[in-house]
Parts: sequence; structure tokens; C-alpha cells
Amino acid sequence: MTQPRAYKTRAVVLRGRVLGEADRIFTLFTAERGKLDAVAKGVRRAKSHLAGRLEFGNECQFGLHRGRSLDVIVSADIVTAHWERLVDPQRFAVFSLVAEVIDALCEPDQPLPEVYALLTGMLGAIAATDEPLALVPRFSLRLLDLLGIAPPVSRCVLCDLPLEERGYVDAQAGGIIGESCRERWRDLLALDEEDLENLRAVAARKGARARVRATPRVARAVEEVLAHHLGRRPKAGAACSEFVTP
Ligand SMILES: [Zn+2]
Repeated sequence: MTQPRAYKTRAVVLRGRVLGEADRIFTLFTAERGKLDAVAKGVRRAKSHLAGRLEFGNECQFGLHRGRSLDVIVSADIVTAHWERLVDPQRFAVFSLVAEVIDALCEPDQPLPEVYALLTGMLGAIAATDEPLALVPRFSLRLLDLLGIAPPVSRCVLCDLPLEERGYVDAQAGGIIGESCRERWRDLLALDEEDLENLRAVAARKGARARVRATPRVARAVEEVLAHHLGRRPKAGAACSEFVTP
């Protein structure tokens, strides 16, 4: 099946980088095709009709043209612009983290409509709240779940036995381990019963059991599991941690 050269899609701007004298490459997260890179030609010239529309975090209806290597952005009409709210340093740091993690964990050209819904929902929530950092653990766990790599929250990630009243965060194993799998010499973050219950609520799909706010230990646990999947700490994580009150 040949695909039409011109197409329309809704997408969020995850990042942009300079290309040559006047162009920019944008990483977009689209509703239909997931992540994709597209070039905006002449966008760095003042009279470009695209200038000002492709701000970080904007959700636009895009007109694109399939190119040989990169698709070309022909038009962009803003659907939702959170820019005025996102310039706040803490909101900016949290959205940078969201964009970085989605960019790092999602393969290009893979349709992920639920991730798109999570991303746009998260943008709205970041813009609306005065405590954007509190949204990060649940966002991270929901994203890992939608990508099929969420840690089990009721069972030991190594032996699959139910977690009893204590669990230990084993980032190398990618999740929580139980007492019997823990090697005593390893200094692992311990989660008590209340933390484990909170972890389940923060990880839960929408519904009565779901909760947004993580306990401090659960927030750290999620951070470690996320870093394990990224293979590093997120770059935007440093900016976020400036806002953590000890
Ligand atoms: Zn175990």
C-alpha cells in the first residue's frame, strides 16, 4: 500500500534543534504515528508562518509531507499552547523530564495512542497545578505500564513470590524484591507496608484505587526504576531535584 505524500496529524512538540542556517528539526509525538522527526524549513526566519507555533509543549494540528528521509512540516495550527504556564521554572523542569523520558523510551513511528493521551493529559495537569513534581511518579509508572515494562507492584521481580510487609528497591533487577531475594550486604532502599500499598495505588490504572501522590520513598523507588530503563538518570531530573524540599 502506498501512503499519501501529504497527511495531517495532531502532535505535541517534544524538542527542536537547529539545522543549517534557517531550518529546525522537531521531534514530535503524534497521535497516529507516535514519535517522529520532521523538519520545518525556514522556520528561523522572522517571517516564517510557522515561527512561534512550534514552541516546546505546544499541541498542534500539523500538515506534513512525507520526505525521503525526514517528513516536512507544511503547516501547524495550535490546538493547545501551555507556553505561558510552562515558562515557570518548576513546570518547565517537569515537562522537560516528561518530554525527555517519552523521547528516550518510545521508538519512532510506532503508534502509541495511549501514550499520546498520557502526554497531553500530563501537559494539562502540569499547567494546572502548583506542585508539578508530585505528578512525576504516577506519570512514570503509567508510561512504563503502557510500554509493557512496568515493574510488578505486588510480587518480587526476581522470584515472583508475593511481596509481604517489606520490599526492597533493586534498580538493577528493574523493580522491587522481597526479603528472601535480598542479599544482606546490599544497601537497598526499603519500602514498608504503607509504601507498598501506596506504590500499588500510584501505579494503578484509572479508578477508585488510583492515587497521584507518592510517599517520598515510593517517589525515589520510581526514580530508580525509571533510571534503570533509561540506562541513566534523566538529564532533566537534575533540574527537577532543585525543587525537592528535603
Ligand atoms: Zn524474590
